[in-house]
Amino acid sequence: YPSLAKLIVVCTISGGGYVAYADANSTSGVHAAAPPVSEIKKKKVVVLGTGWAGTSFLKKLSDPSYDVQVISPRNYFAFTPLLPSVTCGTVEARSIVEPIRSIVRKKSVNVSYWEAECFKIDAENKKVYCRRNPDSSMNGKEEFAVDYDYLVIAMGARPNTFNTPGVVEHCNFLKEVEDAQQIRRSVIDSFEKASLPTLSDEERKRILHFVVVGGGPTGVEFAAELHDFVNEDLVKLYPAAKGSVQITILEAADHILNMFDKRITDFAEHKFHREGIDVKLGSMVVKVSDKEISTKVRGNGGEITTIPYGMVVWSTGIGTHPVIRDFMKQIGQTNRRALATDEWLRVEGSNSIYALGDCATINQRKVMEDVAAIFKKADKDNSGTLTVKEFQEVIDDICERYPQVELYLKNKQMRDIADLLKMAKGDVAKEAMELNIEEFKKALSEVDSQMKNLPATAQVAAQQGTYLANCFNRMEEAEKNPEGPIRFREEGRHRFRPFRYRHFGQFAPLGGEQTAAQLPGDWVSIGHSSQWLWYSVYASKLVSWRTRALVITDWTRRFVFGRDSSRI
Ligand code: FAD
Repeated sequence: YPSLAKLIVVCTISGGGYVAYADANSTSGVHAAAPPVSEIKKKKVVVLGTGWAGTSFLKKLSDPSYDVQVISPRNYFAFTPLLPSVTCGTVEARSIVEPIRSIVRKKSVNVSYWEAECFKIDAENKKVYCRRNPDSSMNGKEEFAVDYDYLVIAMGARPNTFNTPGVVEHCNFLKEVEDAQQIRRSVIDSFEKASLPTLSDEERKRILHFVVVGGGPTGVEFAAELHDFVNEDLVKLYPAAKGSVQITILEAADHILNMFDKRITDFAEHKFHREGIDVKLGSMVVKVSDKEISTKVRGNGGEITTIPYGMVVWSTGIGTHPVIRDFMKQIGQTNRRALATDEWLRVEGSNSIYALGDCATINQRKVMEDVAAIFKKADKDNSGTLTVKEFQEVIDDICERYPQVELYLKNKQMRDIADLLKMAKGDVAKEAMELNIEEFKKALSEVDSQMKNLPATAQVAAQQGTYLANCFNRMEEAEKNPEGPIRFREEGRHRFRPFRYRHFGQFAPLGGEQTAAQLPGDWVSIGHSSQWLWYSVYASKLVSWRTRALVITDWTRRFVFGRDSSRI
């Protein structure tokens, strides 16, 4: 491209401009009288958050014509998929974190970081209001405002308590590194407490009853990790506790690991049953007190059952940050869990604010419009029906554009649509058979509400960060050359192609060196071989060679010496 040469020239000039600006600031403390032209042109990008979305954006951003200010209460990136391993000491906390400053240190873009939290977004005046991290030892709650040209909101989400009484006061969450460390201490603390000679058997059993609320991937993985920790390490050190330990999973739905293939769900439930992990399905927690958890069991006439516990881990999905909720009110987005963006990740109604990761959701109204258009095009004779072959082409087109449709079809509730799809793909139907478009569209619109949200995963957040950085990297070129390369156009709607999520599969570690893997193309693998796949994928996905080396060392240490049970 001829514009590449231009881009290189721009990079060189603005890079030089940045050095001059930094020198002027650090030596005189006053603003330079006549800043270089390239400096005036620098657009200020404020990034809120150093999680999966924010960090992948920062890693990929390479155009030095931006001044980037990162603001987050956490001065590191945490590899969350290994957090359950931290709860039991399989992996150490420091092995899965990387300081954000070292991630951006060698970048050609000017990136600076402030350890603070944003408490208000003022879209009208293009400002964010922040205060020092209340946890930091520096000067309490200083507040300050930061201007931006572009704002990237990547603040993640909060654990969702569904306003259940007692959850905040008595439950552990598993969201942050500190949570995992706290859980590790509490588990060991429970074993120490239960070893005291003053306890009755009943009290000992209560203390050693570990309850996990939520049978999603995080809750299930934690339960499996805890089971391994107890049986491989703790019972050797606390032999008297052996008969008293109980692990229970409370799940409000009909099955655990709902979003996985039925084969995985069945395998996990049977495995846990064999190992003595009590999976209580259809159990909705309605209240938690300091020693008891109350559940409403479906089919029990609404009767409330109370279960004595020693420790609870609450893992029932995610809710909205108060800052995001306030901002949503400000811009008229109410009754949503997350900020609605368009398919270019711009917050709806704003050209300069982007939202990605767990705090955002792409508004999929366009999906249904697109789906309707695809059907219309395929229905050449306007008969309202398609042959199986035509239908198959339509489905392939939809699934290629919207992998989340395919993903959601895996959900148990969507089985009938999955069957329809299967049929359309020729497994059952004959070539001559015709399928009714309206009926299928009706069925598809039922999943529309489900399709509104991409899954809240690191995979989505990281891909969104990379996508947005690529857009930013090309922004200047695209602005200067609006009629330029075809890749910037996309039917005149925007300069860039819309974000498209690519699903690479998901894992559910089930303990005992066994993992369930559900990979694209309906490929399911469960067992020891998938555990090795899990080790390799996660080791390769770690953010740096340092963390990779530390995690592999931790895994080896655990194999050789077992997990450490010191309560420090
Ligand atoms: P986060 O990674 O949560 O980052 C949010 C950032 O915003 C943080 O840096 C935070 O400090 C910062 N922040 C918070 N408040 C403010 C504020 N007021 N101002 C400024 N910054 C703020 N996903 C997978 O794909 N695979 C897995 O195996 C997997 N396992 C998981 C296991 C656990 C235990 C958990 C908790 C999650 C797991 N996930 C997994 C989900 C994944 O971690 C999230 O989807 C992902 O972290 C979302 O990325 P994010 O950048 O949106 O948010």
